[in-house]
Amino acid sequence: AIIFDNIEKNFGSLKVLKGITGEINRGEVVAVIGSSGCGKSTLLRCFNRLETIDNGRLIINGINLSRPTVNYNQLRQLRTQVGMVFQQFNLFPHLSVLENMTLAPRKVLGKTPKESAQLARLYLEKVGLHDKASAYPEQLSGGQKQRVAIARSLCMNPQIMLFDEPTSALDPELVGEVLQVMQQLAAEGMTMVIVTHEMQFAKEVAHQVIFLDKGIVAEKGSAYEVLTNPQSDRLRIFLSRLQ
Ligand code: ATP
Ligand code: MG
Repeated sequence: AIIFDNIEKNFGSLKVLKGITGEINRGEVVAVIGSSGCGKSTLLRCFNRLETIDNGRLIINGINLSRPTVNYNQLRQLRTQVGMVFQQFNLFPHLSVLENMTLAPRKVLGKTPKESAQLARLYLEKVGLHDKASAYPEQLSGGQKQRVAIARSLCMNPQIMLFDEPTSALDPELVGEVLQVMQQLAAEGMTMVIVTHEMQFAKEVAHQVIFLDKGIVAEKGSAYEVLTNPQSDRLRIFLSRLQ
C-alpha cells in the first residue's frame, strides 16, 4: 500500500506538490490525471524516491520515506518492490532484450544468469514477445519496446508498478498493445499507479482516479465519479480538451 499524507515537494522556490493526501491499497489501480506541469511525474517519482519529499508523510509498503535520509537497506527494498515504466522506455540501447531484462535481477537480486534468463523468457512470453529475446531495442517498434520495459520491471517481482505516461510516445496504432498488457497486469491484481491521458482506459481499468491541479488534489474518487461526473469546472474543462 501507499500512504501519503500532506506531502510537499519544492524545486527551489517552485512549489510543485502542495500537500497531497491519499491512499492506494494493495491491488488497487489508480490513474493520476491533470494538465502538463501540475506535478504528476513528480508525485510518481516521490513514490520511488527518485525525488525526496520536503514535508508530509509517505509510506510505501511499510517503508517510511518521510525522512530526509533513508537507509541503504530500505532503499534497496523499495527499489525491488516498486517498478517504474517511463514514457521513453529507457531500455539500454547496447544490450539485447534479454540482457536488458536480466541485468537487475543478477546485479540486485543476485540471481544466476540461468535463473534470470528463465524468468526473462517467462515475462517476454507474457507480453507476447517470446521471439525478441536477442533483438536490440533499435530493432523494436515503440510498442514492443514499451512491452519489454514492462516485462523488464516484472522480472524484479515488484509489488507496485508505477507508469508515467507509458503510451504517450507511441504511434496511435501501437497504444492498444501496451494498454492490453497493463490491463492484464491489473486483472492479476498488481497495485498500479498510472499517469495517463487515456481516459477510456482509466474508466475501464482504474479503481481510483486522482485529478491533480497545480500541485493539489483537486478531485479524487472512483473512476466513474471523477470521469463521468466531474465536480469542478477545471476538471470538466480538462476532460473536454481530451475529447
Ligand atoms: P507533464 O504532463 O508535462 O509530464 P507533470 O504533471 O508530470 O507534467 P512534473 O514533471 O511533475 O509535471 O513537473 C511539475 C513542475 O515541476 C513543472 O513546473 C516542472 O517544470 C517542475 N520540475 C519538475 N522537475 C523539476 C526539477 N528536477 N527541477 C526543477 N523543476 C522541476
Ligand atoms: Mg510528467
